[in-house]
Amino acid sequence: MTTIIWFRQDLRLADNPALAHAAMRGAVVPVYIADETDPFPPGGASRWWLHHSLRALENSLGCMVYLCGDPLEQLDSLVRKTGASAVFWNRCYEPHAVARDRSIKKHLREAGLEAESFNAGLLNEPWEVRTKSGEPFKVFTPFWRAAMANAPESPKAAVKPECAAPKGIGTTLDALGLAPSNPDWAKGWSDLWTPGEADAQARLDAFVENGLEGYATLRDRPDLRHTSRLSPHLHFGEISPRQIAARIGWAADENPALARDADKFMAEVGWREFCYHLLFHYPDLPAKNWREDFDRYPWRESAADLKAWQRGQTGYPLVDAGMRELWQTGTMHNRVRMVAASFLTKHLRLHWKHGEQWFRDTLVDADLANNAAGWQWVAGSGADAAPYFRIFNPTMQARKFDPRGDYIRRWCPELAGLSDSDIHAPFELAADILAKAGIRLGETYPKPIVDHDAARKAALAGYDKIKR
Ligand code: FAD
Repeated sequence: MTTIIWFRQDLRLADNPALAHAAMRGAVVPVYIADETDPFPPGGASRWWLHHSLRALENSLGCMVYLCGDPLEQLDSLVRKTGASAVFWNRCYEPHAVARDRSIKKHLREAGLEAESFNAGLLNEPWEVRTKSGEPFKVFTPFWRAAMANAPESPKAAVKPECAAPKGIGTTLDALGLAPSNPDWAKGWSDLWTPGEADAQARLDAFVENGLEGYATLRDRPDLRHTSRLSPHLHFGEISPRQIAARIGWAADENPALARDADKFMAEVGWREFCYHLLFHYPDLPAKNWREDFDRYPWRESAADLKAWQRGQTGYPLVDAGMRELWQTGTMHNRVRMVAASFLTKHLRLHWKHGEQWFRDTLVDADLANNAAGWQWVAGSGADAAPYFRIFNPTMQARKFDPRGDYIRRWCPELAGLSDSDIHAPFELAADILAKAGIRLGETYPKPIVDHDAARKAALAGYDKIKR
């Protein structure tokens, strides 16, 4: 019996329950549908990743059908053309996907087909973790405690079913137009990233070998490579959190000295689970302030300040380094994401939605749940958020987390001539020190677009307004 397997954010063969269940029925028709009804379609950087990840999956499976349009219509037509008697997929949790999949399942079942969905992307389904009174959680720590009470299922081995995709159906991967061309702005990215299941596993192995030990203390240092860089692989489902939990669990069992680092790392994976939990239960998260009092916050509008932030030209080296890393590589270290997001929302007082949109377009790991929750957390408007009055000082953050300035030097090469202790705040330096390093403030590197103390006061004054 032929089964259509509809791939979305589960681009792998191993620990893929929809694929495994389809394989038990017989041959499969794997399909990817570029969903033209999605209100949050993938941004530019994600599209680059998706193109290469789909190519890798197609190579592993031996075939793939590419379609474009309304998924319900496309699946209907594919069922007719292939004679499939079932359609299986792994669940997505974005509000649009939840509603879409629900109506597709109903439609297919009414048409007499088997339609089943599975959990491939989370340790726990968002509805499986509840407070004692049966409500969704709003605070991370009790959420994660409750989530950890359910031991994660063991990951399943890879399956490679017989491929029954008829030739000549649909379009080609290239014709979906996911990879940039003319200009190919992602030219160097293949040296930085290898999308696909094989590299996701290799990256996890490399992290366990080289990054896990010390993770709890060094994960905040952007100048060191101590985090896993698994987020785009996780977003596209090239690796599952169950596979990660199992691998990290073995590492800690083999070497109990790693227990603290392993717990901290799994708690970060837990933040991802929490963000999905929030998005599922509060589908307005990407669109509305979680805390309604923030609707009254006096946000500014300034196209010039937004552009300076986007281009890494704020005059604050850590913020600029992060924004340039993002533009050039499609990622940014988590600590720097927090500092850059805080700078946009608190120093510039521009609405977090501007930042959420920019990240959505430029991050290879852009993820509706993690991104919206991350932005609202930093802005102070979110669930379990950083208190609004705790405003990051971008210079102190730079001194603390990039102590020798290596990260800044890498992304702001025009500051490279400054000493390790001077590089974090060129605007504090005497003219002769700047001249010796070949820097002309306002020409070779910008003057700060806002004064930290004044910006801090203005941000707090805005907060006073919403408290009243
Ligand atoms: P590691 O430290 O190795 O963590 C392992 C995994 O845990 C990550 O791959 C990720 O899946 C998850 N994780 C870690 N930290 C967080 C977190 N704070 N929230 C949710 N999950 C987390 N992450 C995204 O995947 N997509 C986004 O669009 C995104 N936008 C963000 C926006 C802002 C403003 C902020 C502050 C954070 C955002 N994050 C986002 C979370 C975090 O910055 C990245 O997940 C992390 O930097 C990825 O690097 P890593 O894989 O090396 O992380």
